[in-house]
Amino acid sequence: MSVPLKVLQKILCKTKYKNKDDVDEEENRNPSDHEAIKKLRELLKLQLDDRNNSNQITDDHTLLRFLHMTDYDISKAKDSFLNHLKWREEFGVEKISKEFNFDEYEQVQKYYPHGFHGVDRSGNPVYIERMGLIDLTTLLEKTSLERLVKHHVYEQENTLNVRFPACSIAAGKRIGSTTAILDVKGIGASSFSKQARYLLMEIQHIDSNYYPDTLNRLYVVNAGSGFRLLWKALRTSLDAHTAKKIQVLGSNYKSKLIEVIDPSNLPSFLGGNCTCSEQGGCMISDKGPWNDPKILEILESLKDNKKNAYDNHTNVEEVWLSAESTPDNTPLSLSETIKQMKITVEEAESRFRAIEVAVAQTKQVLQRFSEKCKEFQMKALHFEKSGTI
Ligand SMILES: [Zn+2]
Repeated sequence: MSVPLKVLQKILCKTKYKNKDDVDEEENRNPSDHEAIKKLRELLKLQLDDRNNSNQITDDHTLLRFLHMTDYDISKAKDSFLNHLKWREEFGVEKISKEFNFDEYEQVQKYYPHGFHGVDRSGNPVYIERMGLIDLTTLLEKTSLERLVKHHVYEQENTLNVRFPACSIAAGKRIGSTTAILDVKGIGASSFSKQARYLLMEIQHIDSNYYPDTLNRLYVVNAGSGFRLLWKALRTSLDAHTAKKIQVLGSNYKSKLIEVIDPSNLPSFLGGNCTCSEQGGCMISDKGPWNDPKILEILESLKDNKKNAYDNHTNVEEVWLSAESTPDNTPLSLSETIKQMKITVEEAESRFRAIEVAVAQTKQVLQRFSEKCKEFQMKALHFEKSGTI
């Protein structure tokens, strides 16, 4: 692998956002973030040392998510983090992320089209759900609510462990949130059966409590008057931090989506020009940097790098960011990295040129010496023949 680990770590620590629509994690940080993270970490250490599992305290960015969630109330953030660890254990999240097989996936897609599809203009993964096309009755003949929730958790883990790190490598900056599109065409209050409400509330509960702050933006599209009424009620149950990331749009949503997502990354049914025809359609192609073999190779090599130290922990992003405390970890942009690499190559080329010149000069000296030798030999022969020696 030609990309050095240190360079990748530097890229991953960089957080510069170009799109004005992004909710900038850095911008939202207040100056005492570092102090708050330190305090939270110390509190967690005290709690977790007793249980001999302090290695579950994760990277700064994850801790910051819990601090955002509780408006920097360190004690509440500690409780939320511990609750999340408890839930992970009870729900068997590690087991789900390694072993869960959603064999009915293709069938489910027919009645509940959803999935990740490419990245937005800032490099965040894009998640699309076509809620208006959900046929819950037929869907529940193919799978169960319990398995749908497990599938959701599996995908969340996959996003944390593979999609975000892969997008970070592709974008040359740290990516830690998703841009989501929810197509609610035809959805109104009457569309929500008891089972649909259960599924939605269960997923919302898991996402907001155990995967906080992983949403960049949510665009609700094709919202009719029915959905808008429903939205008024739903909005009150959301925290202000999440609510401000959601934009509800009617049928004129295309220009907004194109503003944040390049048409090549947007399915044709949402106004883009992608059809993923060779992969069976945009909702099952799962296209994105997380399927790029070169990027997956980098992820694999990074995972192996500290495998022993983390006792086979699967959170790759955490392994990368574990180097944050090393002093030589100044944020470096991709262009700066390339510039530095170019300088190194130029230096090497310059040394080769110097060696070539030195070799050429040595050759000239040796040639002259050889000519002198021949000259001397000729003279010696001449003198020998003339008997003057
Ligand atoms: Zn596509």
